[in-house]
Amino acid sequence: MFDRVAILDWSAAGTPKSGRDSIWLGVAGAGGVEVENPRTRVEAERRLARLIDDSIGAGERLLIGMDFAFGYPAGFAARLTGRAHAPAVWEWLAAHVSDTPDNRSTYRDAAARMNAYFAGDGPFWGNNEATATAGLPRRKPALPEGLAELRATDRAAGGSGGTPKPVWQLAYSGAVGAQTLTAQPMLHRLRAGFAGRLAVWPFDPPADARVVVAEVYPSMLSAEVRAFCRDNSGVVPDEAQVRLMASAFLQLATTGRLSAMFDPPAAPDLLAEEGWILAAGHEMALRSALPARTAPPRLRDDCFAMPQGVDWVPVDTALEKLRAGLHPVAGTLQLPPAQADGHVLAEAAIARRANPPAPNSAVDGYGFAHLATGEGPQRLPLLEGRAAAGQPWTTPVPEGAAIRILTGAILPPGVDTVVLDEDTARDGAAIVFDGPVRAGANTRRAGEDVAAGSPALPAGRRLTPPDLALLTALGVGEVTVRRRLRVAVLSTGDELVADPARPAETHQIFDANRPMLLATVARWGHEPVDLGHAPDDEAAIAAALDRGADGADVILTSGGASAGDEDHVSKLLQTRAQLTSWRIALKPGRPLALAVWNGAAVFGLPGNPVAAFVCTLIFARPALSLMAGAGWLAPQGFTVPAAFSKSKKPGRREYLRARLDAEGRAEVFASEGSGRISGLSWADGLVELADGAAEIGPGAPVRYIPYASFGL
Ligand code: AMP
Ligand code: MG
Repeated sequence: MFDRVAILDWSAAGTPKSGRDSIWLGVAGAGGVEVENPRTRVEAERRLARLIDDSIGAGERLLIGMDFAFGYPAGFAARLTGRAHAPAVWEWLAAHVSDTPDNRSTYRDAAARMNAYFAGDGPFWGNNEATATAGLPRRKPALPEGLAELRATDRAAGGSGGTPKPVWQLAYSGAVGAQTLTAQPMLHRLRAGFAGRLAVWPFDPPADARVVVAEVYPSMLSAEVRAFCRDNSGVVPDEAQVRLMASAFLQLATTGRLSAMFDPPAAPDLLAEEGWILAAGHEMALRSALPARTAPPRLRDDCFAMPQGVDWVPVDTALEKLRAGLHPVAGTLQLPPAQADGHVLAEAAIARRANPPAPNSAVDGYGFAHLATGEGPQRLPLLEGRAAAGQPWTTPVPEGAAIRILTGAILPPGVDTVVLDEDTARDGAAIVFDGPVRAGANTRRAGEDVAAGSPALPAGRRLTPPDLALLTALGVGEVTVRRRLRVAVLSTGDELVADPARPAETHQIFDANRPMLLATVARWGHEPVDLGHAPDDEAAIAAALDRGADGADVILTSGGASAGDEDHVSKLLQTRAQLTSWRIALKPGRPLALAVWNGAAVFGLPGNPVAAFVCTLIFARPALSLMAGAGWLAPQGFTVPAAFSKSKKPGRREYLRARLDAEGRAEVFASEGSGRISGLSWADGLVELADGAAEIGPGAPVRYIPYASFGL
């Protein structure tokens, strides 16, 4: 029925605007959905005209859904124009509302003029400009006799999502009236400009118009839009709306389910005046035409449950438990390789073409058929011309002849072997060299690196710069990747102040954990979300966790995680979420509070920066990687001689701040105090001492894990 579907979200903004609450255009076709965000109405109208032109030129059928009312409640059009037909109102508005290229519209004056046609102060009202417009009341007036607040179609669509707002209201929260007044003139111009080729439904006879324009109501998909924004960070609701609506309508069109929706349950004269919202009354069908949500389910509330009362949990047990309770939570998106560095593949990338795509020469030299050569001195007449990379030689090279060939050139027909420049001499119009030459020497077989159709990179792979080269060479134009895991960071404590450039009272300390943790998660390829800091107050912490769960998949908190009087994070998680407090047999570390807050995993880290950092490296890193879809990670360590002595107690794992000295031995920081931030910074990694007791002296083998092995 339609080859493409465009959805337009309109805006009455008074200045050029992009992003939230601006104009969005989504166009769904065979290749997926493309979105644009024109900054002004003038630009958007030009864009639409081009889209229509292109479609007509390409012989396509195009449906354009527009998100504004096409009609006014019954009685209005006749009163204003003498004709009970919505297009007459568009024409009137086109003559009275103008827009400048920088988005300034005269719609308020036009509304005031229209109000003059009616007894009383309305029907149009609402103005949040400083200057008043005479004839346009700021507050809602009584409706003129005989005019309804909503159209029949607004009431029909009302059950489906949002509450439709009346077209009379021009300003304040959720108002749509100004959009209607600025958009209908555009509709008039398009209809006039493409007369005979474009029909506005349900006002024009569809005849054989290639382009159909219809009113749509994206709030029908409000739940899906919200979910889409949650799964795709950075996507504003307006963009999500046009994307989802366009692909749903295209799906309905291609599966033959759309035609029923062009048959609304209303009398023809009512339709002519008020119009109808496409798919009103068919919301379920519209929703079912959307692709199943690609985002995996969020975490279960009890995924961190651990038998309580266990006194000290060994590190490895805690890690196993963590690994078993988690799963990938990041949804997917398509990206071209050039934009995919650091993203995790959600699906294996398959080679679209072989590398190399055709047999070619590995060197500069001379190519010939191996069959015609043998032992001893060889002399082959040389053809005129040459084969070079990008300049294929297509005429067959006769057996017994040779041709000049350069590195990367496809082997001409008849050539299967190349002899290197340096191994040949020229003899007039021939080359000479010593045989025998190995068949296929100095050539690369088609697909010898990667065959077409073979998996090039596996799902779960975090893409590296060389991967981008590989994907590109294999003609992979788009990969399915996970969107970045959003990791929120919150510091807690009454003593904290954020800005180190400001003076602090003696009882205050600067929030050192937050910049450290935000930078750490960013280095791991996740998207950091800064939640600031909260005082030791449960309501404030709860509010911050709410914000975190809204905008992130995981929340790292620091401070207040033990069981003391001022440990408000653990208290809150205890009462409001399924807290699992793990007393981990780890130094530095101790309590690690784990919980799920509104579907987001919460890692309650200790407040001490050293302990917070070590717990992040040991526990959060593999867990975040798993949730990001890149699988569990274990850091690679190296056995090196110790440059220190230590007598270690049994029963817990210890991590010492360490670095390698000039002899490659691990030296450790002088103090093990967990408030010693300078030691974290002094170190280049950690020495890991196993759970049992140990007597370590200089030269003893110890396991050293550089920060680089933790992905830093
Ligand atoms: P807590 O875990 O809240 O008992 O905090 C333990 C220690 O870490 C206290 O000395 C806190 O002042 C300190 N601390 C907590 N949060 C931070 C932070 N964000 N930056 C620096 N030190 C902190
Ligand atoms: Mg504290």
